[in-house]
Amino acid sequence: MRAMQMTRIVSVAEDDAPLTLTEVPTPECGPDELLLRVHACGVCHTELDEIEGRTPPPRLPVIPGHEVVGSVAALGRDVRGHQLGDRVGVGWIHRGSGAADENLTADFEATGRDANGGYAEYMSVPAAYAIPIPESFSDEQAAPLMCAGAIGYRALRLTGLENGQSLGLTGFGGSAHIVLQLTRHLYPDSPIAVFARDEKSRAFAASLGADWVGHTTDRAPHPLRAIIDTTPAWTPVREALANLSPGGRLVINAIRKEDSDKEALLGISYHEHLWLEREIKSVANITARDIAEFLPIAAQIPIRSTVEVFPLERANEALVALKRAPVTGAKVLKIL
Ligand SMILES: [Zn+2]
Repeated sequence: MRAMQMTRIVSVAEDDAPLTLTEVPTPECGPDELLLRVHACGVCHTELDEIEGRTPPPRLPVIPGHEVVGSVAALGRDVRGHQLGDRVGVGWIHRGSGAADENLTADFEATGRDANGGYAEYMSVPAAYAIPIPESFSDEQAAPLMCAGAIGYRALRLTGLENGQSLGLTGFGGSAHIVLQLTRHLYPDSPIAVFARDEKSRAFAASLGADWVGHTTDRAPHPLRAIIDTTPAWTPVREALANLSPGGRLVINAIRKEDSDKEALLGISYHEHLWLEREIKSVANITARDIAEFLPIAAQIPIRSTVEVFPLERANEALVALKRAPVTGAKVLKIL
């Protein structure tokens, strides 16, 4: 089968072909596993974190990709409850303990980092981590929901928001544009403010129904009850804290923060940014259960991801674009 393999840690700013198109053996499936024929795989910022060494794979080469949509091509002998041809998705956790907090332990295997992922024509996955995809979604629409969408759902839940309370989103890419639609559905009376550094993202947010849009360093017209930060930077954290109402909560939805603007943290004033019970919470590693809960809600809304489709062999182009250009939706590889 064809796969885009990661063979080394590099800076994507300096190397615009970090992955290599390779012919590799089609994986076997173990007794509790499914073999999936991969239809589509979303391209996530976490792939940049893996390639650039912020969350490096323990072994190389590895096939990245953890927003996988495929159909069951073979079943391990102990698998029950799946049929050949069933359409399923795979997210970040490839194999874990199955406990409610399995996302917070160090010993789960991550798809596309610790185990081969979906930048390939086939992949294997434990049946318990293969989640049914609602029929109403196309493969390309479903792929970004597996990570960007589901983590957005988890982040929104962790804000503790109630209907009518205001929400801010700082950074407006693959996850945030889904959170905006989710918030409109679950909390119809909640005003939504979007902060983004580039004009294109702000216009995109306004077109999806944000009540107010501004630059990352702007102040919203009113203090916000909760803010979700999906940026890889620190300035948005400082600015979001300044936009929170007393008792408000900032949820940081980023697997790693880059160091380039870390000095922004020295601008935090205890009185302006933290006093009056403002809180900071991170969100980590969506579970299979989050995805299984989120997908039916996404189908009900229905959530529409703005996707840009690339063929498998152009995965590098998608990654470079994700690194360099403002994101206006999700990038998805169309495979088989
Ligand atoms: Zn991801």
